[in-house]
Amino acid sequence: MPDFDVITVGAGHNALITSAYLAQAGYKVGVFERRDVVGGAVSTKEIVPGYQFDLGGSAHILIRLTPIIEELGLERYGLEYIDIDPLFFAPYRDGESVFIHRSEQKTVEGLERSYPGEGEAYRRFMDDWRPFGKAVKELFLSTPSPLNLGKKMIFGKAIKGDWKKALPKILKPYGEVVDSYFKEERVKTPLVWMAAQSGPPPSEPFSSPFVLWQPLYHESGMARPKGGSGMLTQALGRHIEAHGGQLFVNASVEKILVEGTRATGVQVGGQVYTARSVVAGTHALETFGKLLPEAHRPEGSRHMRVGNGFGAILRLALNAPVRYSAHPGDAARRALGLICRDRAQLSAAYGDFLAGRPAADPPIVAMSFSAVDDTLAPPGGEVLWLWAQYFPYELAHGARWADIEDEVAERILDAYEVYAPGTKAKVVGKLFQHPEWLERHLGLYRGNVMHLEMSLDQMFALRPFLGMAEYKTHLKGLYLTGASTHPGGGIMGASGRNAARVVLKDLEKKKV
Ligand SMILES: Cc1cc2nc3c(=O)[nH]c(=O)nc-3n(C[C@H](O)[C@H](O)[C@H](O)COP(=O)(O)OP(=O)(O)OC[C@H]3O[C@@H](n4cnc5c(N)ncnc54)[C@H](O)[C@@H]3O)c2cc1C
Repeated sequence: MPDFDVITVGAGHNALITSAYLAQAGYKVGVFERRDVVGGAVSTKEIVPGYQFDLGGSAHILIRLTPIIEELGLERYGLEYIDIDPLFFAPYRDGESVFIHRSEQKTVEGLERSYPGEGEAYRRFMDDWRPFGKAVKELFLSTPSPLNLGKKMIFGKAIKGDWKKALPKILKPYGEVVDSYFKEERVKTPLVWMAAQSGPPPSEPFSSPFVLWQPLYHESGMARPKGGSGMLTQALGRHIEAHGGQLFVNASVEKILVEGTRATGVQVGGQVYTARSVVAGTHALETFGKLLPEAHRPEGSRHMRVGNGFGAILRLALNAPVRYSAHPGDAARRALGLICRDRAQLSAAYGDFLAGRPAADPPIVAMSFSAVDDTLAPPGGEVLWLWAQYFPYELAHGARWADIEDEVAERILDAYEVYAPGTKAKVVGKLFQHPEWLERHLGLYRGNVMHLEMSLDQMFALRPFLGMAEYKTHLKGLYLTGASTHPGGGIMGASGRNAARVVLKDLEKKKV
């Protein structure tokens, strides 16, 4: 009799979601996590006394497109989501600004007032690509296969009107797609900067979906778990335990055990734990390159592209709220601040990155979520997190992050100060998470927060690589989940839910 029905390796949010569905279905689940807390890149810690800092993802957008929270009843386990509106705020140095609200209509009206014609252009953009966004969402929630792709894209009427007109746009780099709708650089830039959050640069061919799913933001909105991002994964942990599952922290899996062609369990601290099925929620490089015996390493796993990092985040504790010159009100504090002058700034930052240098003039995404959640900072205080791009993991000329981290952190704060003067004087504590930090502390190889590069050659049925994309592996009883699998990185949980469906189907088959 095995120790568990299912063992999950790693407790990132995807692996926890898989575990929760399996536990809820009545299976005995054991989750093994290397760190001292569950959650992986969705966790929160008091880094500066009185200030709760997320250590990974903060903006909960994609998960709001899924039925996960309701299906698992996570509110009963302490999860409380706070909706955020406006969604995005783009300040400019001369005092102008652009807001994207949860309401499409309000967004259109605001744009039309500031830039006549652009509101109507936004409405056209949304109307044209709403069906596409819907099809993408359905693809995210299904196992990736060429059949599914065809079904959802073609028969799901993903394109409004003529395919021949739409296809050239779909094949374009996302940095260019906006040119066919908008005239104002100040409207184009926030859309493109938001699209750049997935990693690939605005010049990458076939990357247009990153901007074409803009209508989904109006559907999903953006939210924050009260108490910090990690409250999502804490709630998942409580759900698993309430359904008889066991969570092991400080429990680094050393090996996935294989007998013949079947995975039979894991080894942790020299001790063997057996299971009918093993789900690896770890980075694909960890799973295939470290945990599986070399003889069972599939060839495809040797060619996965992890890239060279791309973002870094400066977490700040402030003794007073931020104030933007372009909009001193609280609406700007609540929204995700998309701080980028124009697309040229983004391209220049990417140019530095290609040359192995940290961006000299980085665009920033600013988050001050204490504006909506007073548990994150002491009374009167503020958390301010500045995500910036592009920053290579491996630096040119043998430079080391340990030698440059203070200067680069200062550079990010300087870039922000221009838009919110006086911020520097409010800083009472900080944490700088550069790509090398992300690898060392969160196990994100080469600092890529998406695990593997999110480019077309590694998406859908090609993620993590061909033949291993349907959450199953070449070994019986071994399954995959996490950002290394479809649909990739971000706080979404779709991979976790999709994987649970596949594992459940196999477990149920064995019952009869
Ligand atoms: C700084 C930062 C900012 C981000 N911002 C956002 C955002 O605002 N919005 C958004 O949607 N996304 C954001 N992301 C991306 C998102 O958080 C991640 O893509 C996502 O959380 C990855 O989840 P996962 O389930 O794949 O696994 P991971 O979170 O990578 O978890 C894998 C787990 O496996 C564990 N592990 C590894 N090896 C072993 C082993 N041998 N034994 C046991 N355990 C092991 C690790 O410790 C880890 O807990 C951000 C990420 C970072 C780091």
